[in-house]
Amino acid sequence: MRQTILLLSAAFALFAADFVAEGDRWWAHIQFLADDKLQGRDTGSDGYREAVKYVAGQMETFGLKAAGTDGYLQPVKFETRQLVDAESSLALIRDGVETRLERADASLSARADLAPALQAPMVFVGYGLRIPEAHYDDFAGLDLRGKIAVYVNAPGPVDAPGPVKSHFGSAAERWNALKAAGAVGSATIMNPRRAVGVNPPGADDAAAADTPGAGRGRGGRGGGGRGPQKSFLLADQDLRDSTGQKIAVTVTRAGGEKFFEGSGHTFDEILKLAQENRPLPTFPLTGTLRSKAVVQRDTVEAPNVAGMLPGSDPNLKNEYVIMSAHLDHIGVGRPVNGDNINNGAMDDASGIASILEIARILKESGAHPKRSILFLAVTAEEKGELGSRYFAMRPTVDRKQIVADINLDMFMPLFALKFIEVQGLAESTLGDAIRETAKAAGVAVQADKEPDQNRFIRSDQYSFIRNGVPSLAFKFGYEFGTPEDKIFHDWVRDRYHKPSDDLNQPVDKAAAAQFDRIIAALLEKVADDPTRPRWKDDSFFKRYAR
Ligand SMILES: [Zn+2]
Repeated sequence: MRQTILLLSAAFALFAADFVAEGDRWWAHIQFLADDKLQGRDTGSDGYREAVKYVAGQMETFGLKAAGTDGYLQPVKFETRQLVDAESSLALIRDGVETRLERADASLSARADLAPALQAPMVFVGYGLRIPEAHYDDFAGLDLRGKIAVYVNAPGPVDAPGPVKSHFGSAAERWNALKAAGAVGSATIMNPRRAVGVNPPGADDAAAADTPGAGRGRGGRGGGGRGPQKSFLLADQDLRDSTGQKIAVTVTRAGGEKFFEGSGHTFDEILKLAQENRPLPTFPLTGTLRSKAVVQRDTVEAPNVAGMLPGSDPNLKNEYVIMSAHLDHIGVGRPVNGDNINNGAMDDASGIASILEIARILKESGAHPKRSILFLAVTAEEKGELGSRYFAMRPTVDRKQIVADINLDMFMPLFALKFIEVQGLAESTLGDAIRETAKAAGVAVQADKEPDQNRFIRSDQYSFIRNGVPSLAFKFGYEFGTPEDKIFHDWVRDRYHKPSDDLNQPVDKAAAAQFDRIIAALLEKVADDPTRPRWKDDSFFKRYAR
């Protein structure tokens, strides 16, 4: 009997579990991590260090093996950059006349390798995309050499699957293409298709992925009233995406018109086309953009935390399934109703709580998965998925032996679990694995319902995908037009990256526990499968596989 239970442990556990009690255990981790005392777990802060200690301690309690380079920790070094506002400026120069751009018009991003002084002509490059796979090229016929590329940060009328569009629309890929075309930098007009004041989940989770360096300069998110926002870069220069970008500007709606003056086109006309996702014209802009940038640099260290459930098979134990979530959040910001601590309960204390509970469940169930499972709490996701990038490129285990990443970031257990929405469902055999696992638990699987929100590249799984590792991420699913749809989108509007993502919000803890059991079963299935997960033949991301 015991043997039978062991063999069927995960599936058995799905039915045997006490979801109410397990939901309370899950919530207890969140109560610690999202407490005001941790001050929003900003990367490198005292609160973050408290969170690190907690997670490492729990991993040890649950019997995971230390899998960092320093016990459970993998130290990660960052360079921070902060624009010195008083000594930095932006201006448009036309016919010798200088129009100074104020903060309300445009801002510099210190994430880029800003030149101390630069003056260059500008070209409007539409959506700023070059996607050979989709036979789409905004740069056709344009000379970008030595110029600043001005573009609208929106998906554009590209005929390609959502994940492919997301990938090419990422900061790294957009800048790669612009750099290859000879541009010295970029000016980004924020996506007009997004309602003002509403950040989709994950929008800022990788502002770096979304916009090269945007939103991190003057008046950047979270820094309200406290001067310019600090940009974080990995200290390891080989792992940086924005290298060579001598100027990076974010243009507001108010500032947009100034850039288009004299070009024969109006900003309103461009915005209207972009809002409708229609093709955009490309053309040179008049005059030049001049920037002066003084940047203050500093260093910060904040570790990833890693614990391992070693595999039981003599060969397969040397292969690793990663179970990841991010431990950092955005810290202290602008007060809302007298509260300025961004507790990050759902984002992403919930994911960390789940990886801890899943580790506990697997360990206590007596399951002996064949491959090793590496539980990973990453740092600096909110700074541009930096901790996961560091781990994916400089892992504490053999990089070639990482076979999958299962990532949890804001999986939104706000209502009963009827659907699991999966990012990356069609890309790899992991999609088949979650389909089977969810089915056994009586839960339906949905593909990403809002691919234009780019969620596939907006969290830490993308760091692994870019390294050729098949990956998945999840949310609680719902159907459009249902009460769950409203709960989800109200949450995004009212709580996302706000102090109200705290311990005083309605959460379905038992549903979270039920979800954790399904993910535990998925991990076991992937870890036990004789064959490694692989990209589907028609997946775009297959090209990154080694
Ligand atoms: Zn976030």
